[in-house]
Amino acid sequence: MPLGPRCPICKKPVLARSKNPSYPFCGDRCRAVDLGMWLGEEYRVPAGSADEQEDEVPLPKDGPEGDA
Ligand SMILES: [Zn+2]
Repeated sequence: MPLGPRCPICKKPVLARSKNPSYPFCGDRCRAVDLGMWLGEEYRVPAGSADEQEDEVPLPKDGPEGDA
């Protein structure tokens, strides 16, 4: 059985790229989820940490305990 591409978000089979404007996602929803991850820095690309030219800026860090 042919193993087609799978949605990286929900792992469902994805239509061929030519038929699927949301490729490689199964649909707009998962594409939006992925975009949200990007914006949320989940997929943050590690910048070259060896050469830090910027001054260290204290980032607002979410504590592990999300007491809200
Ligand atoms: Zn999906």
